Amino acid sequence: MSIQVSSVSFNYGPRKALDNLSFVLQPGGFNALLGPNGAGKSTLFALLTRLYAVQQGEINICGHSIRQHPTDVMQKLGVVFQQSTLDLDLTVGQNLKYHASLHGLSGRAAQQRIESELQRMEMGERIHDKVRSLNGGHRRRVEIARALMHNPSVLLLDEPTVGLDPHTRLKLNQHVRKLCEQHCLTVLWATHLIEEVQPDDKVLLLHKGELKAQGQGSAICAAHGHESLIDLFHHLTAGKEVCA
Ligand code: ATP
Repeated sequence: MSIQVSSVSFNYGPRKALDNLSFVLQPGGFNALLGPNGAGKSTLFALLTRLYAVQQGEINICGHSIRQHPTDVMQKLGVVFQQSTLDLDLTVGQNLKYHASLHGLSGRAAQQRIESELQRMEMGERIHDKVRSLNGGHRRRVEIARALMHNPSVLLLDEPTVGLDPHTRLKLNQHVRKLCEQHCLTVLWATHLIEEVQPDDKVLLLHKGELKAQGQGSAICAAHGHESLIDLFHHLTAGKEVCA
């Protein structure tokens, strides 16, 4: 199993942000964490990436307990956070080089990893360009390349298409799907946009901190008697800020 979340709850003081979440993600597949604003997606990501300590329940990543083997877990995880964290005044290569050094890579080994990840994201020719000169979609690709520098088997992306135009959103989504297929990467893609989810994806539908449905998109629609994901989501979230 790539990710196993068992009975996880999380509170901000008196406010419950996650309520008894349990799910399993198998290796190598595109998984959508779908929920409207305030559903708890970022809180779940903060727990998976150890930004927050688990208050209740258990999380295992690639067989390692996040509590007992945090270093092993972090080696398996690549993360793209909702807000970009690239330095705009450094070049693409310099941003990646700094990140590589955090993972103990330097010199020729680092250069090889940087080139190979940028090529994988079709950004190899932009290595000497300042990040400031890239469009939003290309900046996101650089962030994904950076998240993959240490060869993780799980890639977490927290609403990676926020602020991108529809065409660029689609291209980024397709690109990550290709990575998934070609490199057996387990992807967890958080979004509130149903158009980014396909019927074959495993879907985790989160609303107000509760997992309202989980399973293959078309299967959960059928199980709840809805013809499309958009109908199901409107039904389960009472139409709250979910965009088609
Ligand atoms: P969005 O799509 O808007 O980013 P989300 O699905 O990522 O939403 P979270 O940001 O995880 O949701 O928020 C879940 C709940 O926890 C919301 O009710 C939110 O107001 C609350 N919350 C989030 N961060 C904090 C915090 N630092 N302190 C108190 N409450 C918080």
